[in-house]
Amino acid sequence: MAMDNIIGLTRGGTRWVPQFAIALDEEKCIGCGRCFKVCPRDVLEIVQRALDVAANEDLDDDDDDGDDSDNSYMRLANAMDCIGCEACSRVCPKKCFTHAPLPLAA
Ligand code: SF4
Ligand code: SF4
Repeated sequence: MAMDNIIGLTRGGTRWVPQFAIALDEEKCIGCGRCFKVCPRDVLEIVQRALDVAANEDLDDDDDDGDDSDNSYMRLANAMDCIGCEACSRVCPKKCFTHAPLPLAA
């Protein structure tokens, strides 16, 4: 028998189905950090792109042109802490996230 998916309840008792972040397309990600700011569960972690690290040791030179975030990408570092709120996808300009309902993890 298939295991039931995790469900949530609103304060008013309405059932809803959490859509967990199950994948993040690191190739599409521009490292803007929007998802990191809105995630309520510290699921995400910013990572420096390896090639850029090799080419440029100092990535944190605050040039304020707002266009230097391609040097990094976001990673689902703590996927098991996700509550499936989809806040990350609402703010992601590149549609990097894939979400799905899930059964309780064993
Ligand atoms: S769905 Fe919610 S909890 Fe999960 S990674 Fe996105 S913002 Fe964080
Ligand atoms: S909001 Fe999207 S593009 Fe921006 S860091 Fe997060 S996953 Fe990457």
